[in-house]
Amino acid sequence: AVEFRQVSKSFGHHLVIRNVDLSVASGDVVAVCGPSGSGKSTLIRLINQLETVTDGEILIHNKPTRGLNGSALRELRTHIGFVFQQFNLYAHLTAQDNVSLALIKVHGWKKSDARGKALALLTRVGLQDKAQHYPEQLSGGQQQRVAIARALVTDPDIILFDEPTSALDPEMIGEVLLVMQELAKSGITMIVVTHEMSFAREIADRVIFMDGGEILEQAEPEDFFLRPQHPRAQRFLQKVL
Ligand code: ATP
Ligand code: MG
Repeated sequence: AVEFRQVSKSFGHHLVIRNVDLSVASGDVVAVCGPSGSGKSTLIRLINQLETVTDGEILIHNKPTRGLNGSALRELRTHIGFVFQQFNLYAHLTAQDNVSLALIKVHGWKKSDARGKALALLTRVGLQDKAQHYPEQLSGGQQQRVAIARALVTDPDIILFDEPTSALDPEMIGEVLLVMQELAKSGITMIVVTHEMSFAREIADRVIFMDGGEILEQAEPEDFFLRPQHPRAQRFLQKVL
C-alpha cells in the first residue's frame, strides 16, 4: 500500500506538488492523468525516491520512507518497480542482461540463476526469442516490454509507470498495454501516469486527475469519464477524448 500524507514538493521556489493526500491499497490499479506540467511524474517519482519530499510523509506498507538511504533505500526500491517513458535500457547489454543485471549487481545472485529468471520474465512479456537481442535490434514496443520485465525482476509488489506508451508508434501501443493488463490481473499494485484513456477506462480501478500540483478529482473510471465533477477535469476530458 502507498499513502501520501500532506505531501508537498518544491524545486527551488517552485511548488509542484501541493499538500497531496492519497491512499492506494495493495492490488489497486490507479491511472494518473492531467495536463502537462501538473506534477504527475513528480508524484510517482516521489514514491521510490527518485525525488525527495519537501514536506509531509509517504508511507509504503505503513512505513515512513522519508530520508531513507543506503541499504534501506535499496530495500525499498526492491519492492517498487519503475517503468519510464523512454525505456532507459542499457544499449550495450542484451535484453536478458538488461533484465538480470540488478539481481547480479545489487542482490548478489549467481549469474546462471539471474539469467534463468530473466528468461522466464522475458517469456512472460512474449519476448523469449529476443533474449539475445540488443535494444537497438528491438522495436519500441519490444524495448518497453523488456523494461517491464526488468522492473519485475525483484518481484516488486508495487510498479510505477510514467507514460509507458507515449514514446511508441501507435501500432506498438497495444502490445505494451496487453502486458500491463495481464500485470494488473496479477494483483500487483500499479500506479500509471498515462494519456491512454482506454487503459484508464478498461483497466484502472480508479482515475486520479491532477492539475497545478493538486489532486482535483479521484473517481472510478466510469464516473470520471461520464460525470467528471471538477471544471478543470471536464475541460481536460473535452480535449483528450
Ligand atoms: P508531463 O505531462 O509534461 O510529463 P508532468 O505532469 O509529469 O508533465 P512534472 O514533470 O511532474 O509534470 O513537472 C511538474 C512541474 O515541476 C513542472 O513545472 C516542471 O517544470 C517542474 N519540474 C519537474 N522536475 C523538475 C526538476 N528536476 N527541477 C525543476 N523543476 C522541475
Ligand atoms: Mg511527466
